[in-house]
Amino acid sequence: MAEKLAALSVDLDEIENYAAIHGIAGKLGIVHTAVYDKALARLATLFDEQSVRATFFAIGRDLIDRPENGERLKQLHQAGHEIGNHSLSHFYDLTRRDAQTQHREVRGGADAIEAAVGARPIGFRAPGYTITDRLFEVLAREGVQYDSSVFPCPPYYLAKATALALIRLRGRHSRSVLDDPRVLTAPADPYRIGTPYTKRGRGMRELPIGVTGDRSGRLPYIGTYVALAGRLGARLLTRLACARDFVNLELHGIDLADAREDGLEALAPHQPDLRKTAVAKRAALVSAISELRRRGYRFVTLAEAAAHYGH
Ligand SMILES: [Zn+2]
Repeated sequence: MAEKLAALSVDLDEIENYAAIHGIAGKLGIVHTAVYDKALARLATLFDEQSVRATFFAIGRDLIDRPENGERLKQLHQAGHEIGNHSLSHFYDLTRRDAQTQHREVRGGADAIEAAVGARPIGFRAPGYTITDRLFEVLAREGVQYDSSVFPCPPYYLAKATALALIRLRGRHSRSVLDDPRVLTAPADPYRIGTPYTKRGRGMRELPIGVTGDRSGRLPYIGTYVALAGRLGARLLTRLACARDFVNLELHGIDLADAREDGLEALAPHQPDLRKTAVAKRAALVSAISELRRRGYRFVTLAEAAAHYGH
């Protein structure tokens, strides 16, 4: 029987990115650094208590603009967590930019992380789960060793398409983009990409973002839904995700943000995960982690998973 592995990763998108998705950037009197200043410490404590070493995907710009962010990541790196590359500027339309910009975004993110934590990241996660063959080519040329951006999840794709349409109907402009629907046919277990990247081949190692088993309809197994599901719901979703030998639970820093404690009330109407307290969301995540452990999963970083599935 194949060994069962689980990886937890956290995209450290800062508050301003969420404002950009909802088309309300610059209109909120809120704390714009709550992810690094508040949520990151909660995540680190949670992982410590659960003896999990996780992968944090950082946006290079956030480390260049605020050296204290880099300092926090350096401590996490020294504690055994992996720091991955979430691009330099987190352009939601990175896949539609020219090759020169894409190279600058991938290399610039890696440079900023290396300068801050003292180690060059080997893994990449694209902004907004959107990736293309062209961006994969750039990743390969930049020496990226694995990617974890493919999200072959029909319910999520539909929800995102609907949300973007609603934002447009309200006359606002979202920075978020929706790419090739072929992603829905991509493998949901670790694979090496082919051409197109949604097929298996001999190319870069891909660790798709978590979805439940095929028979349960590939529901999204990501932090937002797990945290909102409550303790019981999180356990049930986790059981469905355990249909796969590799579980890749992707969180966001904001998953452990708290609207009241962190001064984010103005964002809460737009961002459902802010309608629950950090304490409640944490309890749901603990329930998911416990269920994975009970079912025999060993926790690894994504770099370790990529090495494991790399052949
Ligand atoms: Zn992101």
